[in-house]
Amino acid sequence: MLQQVNGHSSGSDAHGGESLREDLQEFLGGEAPLHQLDDLTKVNPVTLETVLRCLQARYTADTFYTNAGCTLVALNPFKPIPQLYSPELMQEYHAAPQPQKLKPHIFTVGEQTYRSVKSLIEPVNQSVVVSGESGAGKTWTSRCLMKFYAVVAASPTSWENHKIAERIEQRILNSNPVMEAFGNACTLRNNNSSRFGKFIQLQLNRQLMGSSLLVPRAQQMTGAAVQTYLLEKTRVACQASSERNFHIFYQICKGASADERLQWHLPEGAAFSWLPNPERTLEEDCFEVTREAMLLLGIDAPTQNNIFQALAGLLHLGNTRFADSEDEAQPCPLMDGAECSVRTSASLLRLPEDPLLETLRIRTIRAGRRQQVFRKPCSRAECDTRRDCLAKLVYARLFDWLVSVINSSICADPDSWTTFIGLLDVYGFESFPTNSLEQLCINYANEKLQQHFVAHYLRAQQEEYTAEGLEWSTVSYQDNQTCLDLIEGSPISICSLINEDPIPPELTRLLQQSQDPLLKVLFPADPEEKSQEEPSGQSRAPVLTVVSKFKASLEQLLQVLHSTTPHYIRCIKPNSQGRAQMFHQEEVLSQLEACGLVETIHISAAGFPIRVSHRNFLERYELLRRLCPGAAASPHGPPPDEGRSEWSPHSEQATLQALLQDILHTLPALARAPAEAT
Ligand code: ADP
Ligand code: MG
Repeated sequence: MLQQVNGHSSGSDAHGGESLREDLQEFLGGEAPLHQLDDLTKVNPVTLETVLRCLQARYTADTFYTNAGCTLVALNPFKPIPQLYSPELMQEYHAAPQPQKLKPHIFTVGEQTYRSVKSLIEPVNQSVVVSGESGAGKTWTSRCLMKFYAVVAASPTSWENHKIAERIEQRILNSNPVMEAFGNACTLRNNNSSRFGKFIQLQLNRQLMGSSLLVPRAQQMTGAAVQTYLLEKTRVACQASSERNFHIFYQICKGASADERLQWHLPEGAAFSWLPNPERTLEEDCFEVTREAMLLLGIDAPTQNNIFQALAGLLHLGNTRFADSEDEAQPCPLMDGAECSVRTSASLLRLPEDPLLETLRIRTIRAGRRQQVFRKPCSRAECDTRRDCLAKLVYARLFDWLVSVINSSICADPDSWTTFIGLLDVYGFESFPTNSLEQLCINYANEKLQQHFVAHYLRAQQEEYTAEGLEWSTVSYQDNQTCLDLIEGSPISICSLINEDPIPPELTRLLQQSQDPLLKVLFPADPEEKSQEEPSGQSRAPVLTVVSKFKASLEQLLQVLHSTTPHYIRCIKPNSQGRAQMFHQEEVLSQLEACGLVETIHISAAGFPIRVSHRNFLERYELLRRLCPGAAASPHGPPPDEGRSEWSPHSEQATLQALLQDILHTLPALARAPAEAT
C-alpha cells in the first residue's frame, strides 16, 4: 500500500526566515535562484540541461549535496571542508526532528537509515549504495558515513557500555587505513583509488532503553562485518604508466627504520621495478598510521614484521628478470643481477631457493594415456607470467587474511545484534585504451548495481503504481539489462566465453614449503596432496574461474541488498583533474546520463516516497482504531504475529509514543503535499 504523501519537502532551509521566504516565493509562483534549489525535483522543467545548470550553480556556490528524489547527488568538492563533516554537524542532523528538512547532506541519509532500522513501522535492514566513477568521492562518502554512525550509534547507557562502544567503533574506523594501505593505489584518476569493492555491514542492537517503555529505542553499534570484492591483484606485478603499486609498498620503503631496512633488504634509494613513481609522496604514504591501526585491530608487532618482510620479498621477486634461452630444452637463464634478487626474495619469503627458481622456470605436465610426467622449460614470457602469478597469489591471500583478521576483531556475536546498515563502496567505472579482465569485472559490478537501481526503483516502482490502480503515466528510462545479458547472459555471453588460464598448482605447492609463520597460515599444507605433479586437465575437478567466482559473489551481494531498504548516493566528479572550483559540463553530463538521474527525478517528483505494506500498516495502526471511542471491534482481533517481536499488548504505550512521533514526522509532509497528491 502506498501512503499518498509527497515527501519531497526538503529544500527549504530549516534555519531562520529563509525557508519562509522560499515558501512564499514558491507560493507566489516565483522561481528560487538555481543554487537554492535543494531538490532537483523542483527544477522546472526537469531536463538534463536544467539539472546540469542547477548542479553547476550549487557547485559554484560551494553547495555540494543536492537531493534528487530518492537519491542524493554528491559533487566532489576536491578541497577539504572540515566544517561540513564536523561532529557538531553530525549531532545537528541526529537531533533534528526532521533531518530531511535540513540542507541535503550524507548525514541526512545516515540519520534516515539509522532511524529506519529502529522504526516500529518497518524495522528493516538498510543499505546505502554509494556509486560513481573512479575519483568521484565514494570512499570518502562511506568513510564519513561510518564516522557518522560511530558518533550517533554510540550513545552509551552506562560507563561499561560506553567503553565497549568506543572500542568497537574505533576498531571499525581503524579498518579503513589498513584496508586502504593494502587495497588502494594511486591511479591516473584518483591518488587514493580503491582497487577492491567493499560492503561493510554495521551491526546494531535493538533494545528498549532502560526500564521505561516510554523511552525510545536505542540502537548501538555492536560490531561490523566487511565483505570485499575482487582485489585488483594484477597491480602487484603490473602498473600502468604514471600509476603506482598498492600504497603499502611505498609506506614500507619510506617509513621503515634503519634496522628494518637491514632486515628487509630495503636500502634507501633501492630501485624496484614493481615500485614505479616512488618520488611522488602522497598523504597515504604514512606507514605509522597503518601500523598503529593494525596494532589496534590486534595484529601485533611480530606479525606485522612478518607481513612487511613478505612484501619486501615480493619487491625483490619483481626484480627477478629472465633472458631468452638459446636452447629450448634448457631453462631460461637469469639476467645480470637477478640471481641476487631471487636469493633475497627466497630468504625473505623463507622459501628454498632452488625450488623457487625451478618453479618459476619449469612446468610439470602430465600427458598421454599413461599420464606420464613431463618437465618442460618455460619460455621467457611464461617465466615472467609465473613470477607475477606467484606475487599475485601471495598478495591476494594476504589481503583476504587481513580482511578475516579485521572481521574477527570487529564482528559482533550473532546474538548481540539484530539489525544492520550496509554500506557499499565499489570501485568506480573505468575505461582505458586496453582493459584488463579485472577492469571488465569492475565495470560489470557497476552495471549490476545500476540494474539493481533500475529494477528496484525505476521499474518496480512504476509497476507497483499500475498494480495499485494509481493514475500513472509511465516514465521511460534506459534499462541496462541488454548490456548485462551481453556480459553474463546465457547460453552465450562474455562470461561463458572467458576461460582463464588457472593458477599453476606448483606455485601453491612451493608456497606451502615456506618456513615463514605467516606464509604457513596463508598456504596451509594440503593433507590430501598425494602427488607432486600437476594432474591432467581431464581429471581435474571443474575449476572456478575468476569471473564465475566474482559473478557468484555479486549475486550474493545483490541478494543482501534486495533484503534491505536501499538508499542511493550518486557521487559526481566535476572534473577529471581533481581540481577544486572546476566544473566540466561535458564530463558531468555523461555521468548524469549514465546513472539515469533525470528519469529518477521524474519518477521521484510524481511518485510516493512513503510505502508501508498492508500488514505492517494494520499492525501499526490497529491501536488507533482500538483507542478511538466507538470504533468497531476488529472481527479478526490483532494481526497475527508472523515472528515480529514488536507487537504485544504490553508494548502499547511504547508503540503509542512511537506512533505519535511518526505522526509528528509525517504531518508536515502531508501539509506540504502538492495538490496533485491526492
Ligand atoms: P572514489 O572512491 O569514488 O574513487 P574517493 O572517495 O577516493 O573517490 O575520492 C577521491 C578524492 O576526492 C579524495 O581523495 C579526496 O581528495 C577528494 N574528495 C572526495 N570527496 C570529498 C569531499 N566530500 N570533500 C573533500 N574532498 C573530497
Ligand atoms: Mg574508492
